[in-house]
Amino acid sequence: MPDCLFCGIASGQIPAKAVRENSRTIAFRDINPQAPTHILVIPKEHYADVAAVAQAGAGLLDEMASLAHQVAVDEGIGGSGYRLVFNSGRHGGQDIPHAHAHLLGGRPLGWPPG
Ligand code: AMP
Ligand code: ZN
Repeated sequence: MPDCLFCGIASGQIPAKAVRENSRTIAFRDINPQAPTHILVIPKEHYADVAAVAQAGAGLLDEMASLAHQVAVDEGIGGSGYRLVFNSGRHGGQDIPHAHAHLLGGRPLGWPPG
């Protein structure tokens, strides 16, 4: 069993409700949804945070954003809109040290965040 929860989900060793994937990224439902649509998009390879994904280059961050948008369309919120959030580090509220984007939508979302 891998040490990292999201590496386990990416490899299929830990169950998750996957909704879509492409060659390098996968999207699955958040276990504790904060909105009618709450889906996580992760790189299949381990990167600690969004900065590490950006540093990797080669279009990986683009692929995460594209997959998120495709999932938003699948979920029927492409038109009403959504939020794509990378929590990063302690003040950013990142709890799981494998880079992930939260796709949130299906209701109006408040701003500024807490
Ligand atoms: P963050 O606080 O930005 O690191 O977000 C971590 C997210 O992972 C939270 O929204 C959790 O609800 C979610 N989460 C934790 N464990 C699982 C799991 N096994 N499957 C799906 N989502 C999870
Ligand atoms: Zn990992």
